Amino acid sequence: MKKLLLILLLSPLLLLAQPTVTLQVLGSDGPESGDKRASSGYLIWIDGKSKILIDFGGGASLRFEEAGARIQDLEVILLTHLHVVHTADLPALLKSSFFTRASGNLHLYGPDKNSFMPSTKSFVNRLFAEGKGAWQYLGDHLDGRATLQLKAHNISKNLKAKVIYRKGDISIKAVSVHHGPIPAIAYRIDIGKKSITFSGDMNGEYHTLEKLAKYTNILVAHNAIPKGSKGVAAKLHMTPYTIGQIAKISGTKMLVLSHRMLRTLGKEKETKSEIRKYYKGNIKFADDKSRYKL
Ligand SMILES: [Zn+2]
Repeated sequence: MKKLLLILLLSPLLLLAQPTVTLQVLGSDGPESGDKRASSGYLIWIDGKSKILIDFGGGASLRFEEAGARIQDLEVILLTHLHVVHTADLPALLKSSFFTRASGNLHLYGPDKNSFMPSTKSFVNRLFAEGKGAWQYLGDHLDGRATLQLKAHNISKNLKAKVIYRKGDISIKAVSVHHGPIPAIAYRIDIGKKSITFSGDMNGEYHTLEKLAKYTNILVAHNAIPKGSKGVAAKLHMTPYTIGQIAKISGTKMLVLSHRMLRTLGKEKETKSEIRKYYKGNIKFADDKSRYKL
């Protein structure tokens, strides 16, 4: 009876308890060297544990270490697309697991193939699979022998967001975005009542991100090109003006600008005033290891 009373008294508190969520930027750069930044990579901390990784480009592995993150705490890796700048440190991450107690399934999601790029499953096989992979000596992470198993999943092209992962408080949605000829995905991660949305690289042509990011707490948008960019760069990336429109339409609470490149670094004032034509919320320019608590 006493037990029942205690449960009844505590249950409203348990319902109110929300996980603590922090977004940490691992790499705030694009593919260039010379800006002393790591390439694209983001980490979501939930209740003090490094749970979800979004992209993992060159240098992100060192930042992961510096942040005190642990591969044994990772549940999911989300790849926005398979460009080098978003994926190059994955082999380093997988190898490092050997020296830890990491075990079970580590799920990795990314886009399906098109005529230009392999699917995420085939990308992982070409890296690690026995008889196929450049690093086939790590093949035991795919075939059931190692304690940690990397489970790759393809996300087919889809202009309507779909749930790709759900576990406990975590729900992840994915939608296709336009990144020139490269299959690319934007993700929204809801953790309890909080959410973070990642644009990845995209130029806004599909108009899918504004719906995915509806009232999101943080939208991480890639600031790869400056105001007035045209040609190939504008086929691949959003101008600051487009970022401002998407942030406004979606009702994003805070905008974090990342994937900063030599062509946008130093232009923060101009970029901000372009975005401000539409968006009146909080704007942050990310650096490596920046942390944003939700
Ligand atoms: Zn890209």
